[in-house]
Amino acid sequence: MTTTTSTMNQLSDRINALAESATLAMAKKAREFKEQGIDIISLSLGEPDFPTPKHICEAAKQAIDSGKYFAYPPVAGYADLRKAIAEKLQKENNIACKSENIVVSAGAKQSIANAMLCLINPGDEVIVYTPYWVSYVEIIRLAEGVPVFIEGDLESDFKASAAQLKDAITDKTKAVIYSSPSNPTGSVFTREEMDEMVEVLKDHKGIYVIADEIYEKINYTGAPISLASYPVMYENTITVNGFSKGFAMTGWRVGYIAAPLWIAKACEKMQGQITSGNCSIAQRAALAAITGDLGPTISMTEAYTRRKDIVISLLNEIPGVITYQPSGAFYIFPDVSAFFGKSADGTVVHNADDLCLYILNEAQVSLVTGDAFGAPRCIRISFAASEEDLRSALSRMKKALGKLQ
Ligand code: PMP
Ligand code: GLU
Repeated sequence: MTTTTSTMNQLSDRINALAESATLAMAKKAREFKEQGIDIISLSLGEPDFPTPKHICEAAKQAIDSGKYFAYPPVAGYADLRKAIAEKLQKENNIACKSENIVVSAGAKQSIANAMLCLINPGDEVIVYTPYWVSYVEIIRLAEGVPVFIEGDLESDFKASAAQLKDAITDKTKAVIYSSPSNPTGSVFTREEMDEMVEVLKDHKGIYVIADEIYEKINYTGAPISLASYPVMYENTITVNGFSKGFAMTGWRVGYIAAPLWIAKACEKMQGQITSGNCSIAQRAALAAITGDLGPTISMTEAYTRRKDIVISLLNEIPGVITYQPSGAFYIFPDVSAFFGKSADGTVVHNADDLCLYILNEAQVSLVTGDAFGAPRCIRISFAASEEDLRSALSRMKKALGKLQ
């Protein structure tokens, strides 16, 4: 059955108002092109191109073969996994949490959704560091909250300042959300910037920060700092992390939060009604990841570092593209506004959406428009792809962009 306007009208206002995930939509488009035999290079999805490390896969196989993990796992996650996560956060991130503060979910995306749905009442404001990851805003709207944007730009390394944060706080502010290292910019808050943020937030005991640290293992300038490691912020911070990025485990769907007990319990109740918790075998794999050899994670980050350098140097050869040095994650978010208003063969590029479409059609490279991240002058390029693909994607892009007059 096809979806018609009349069947659309029977859907809830909630789903009709929800935007499709731009990252997943571009990935879907690239997949469809590939199925048609078109040689697409997909740099749209933030997904490691490496396979999950062997010892993690082995742990999953053993879990299946043991015959012990076929039943519903505990809703908040297996006790040994929660304990291992709490120990990692204590040791590596200086966060004074215990197992009871940890809730394991179907990816960090669900962790963020749980936290928002548990904290936000209709009309509550959520301050969003912008550029932001695509799903934050839609999740806030699903929770009937109101996103309030504080924007960073190229000059500020895409990081809004503590002064902007302070100015955005009202008596309706309930939460703040950011990612550091950031998707889409790769920016990382420095110790000084974190100190300034804490100085603003420490006296607002009714404001909760969702600190998304999913890219912590992929950083180029030294370890990022966890907000919850500041004792004054511990009771007001929900730390989000997961296995997708650092361990190349996107498909396994394991993420988690560390939060004050009342929030952790609420998130457990929430997912108890929606998913019953995370896949048992994926959790056994996650346990092996968090307690095992970090060698593969370090090698992957070394590869991302090389790729970053290649992409930046090739982008710098394209007149009109403005680049910078990302400090973490595997994205670069160049300013491409110099191309707006230009055209080639009758196709006019008005904005970043048009430019992505032009590059897709002309160069067969899929990227994501900056609009999806609240930054309409930019486009996002994921360099979680092979060096060979990156080199040919950038060469095709150079040719296509060179045609725009
Ligand atoms: N946060 C950020 C900033 C992300 O880029 C992603 C991308 N997957 C997620 C959360 C969600 O990750 P997952 O659900 O795969 O754990
Ligand atoms: N987080 C990745 C991205 O931004 C994966 C896609 C998604 O979960 O939206 O591309």
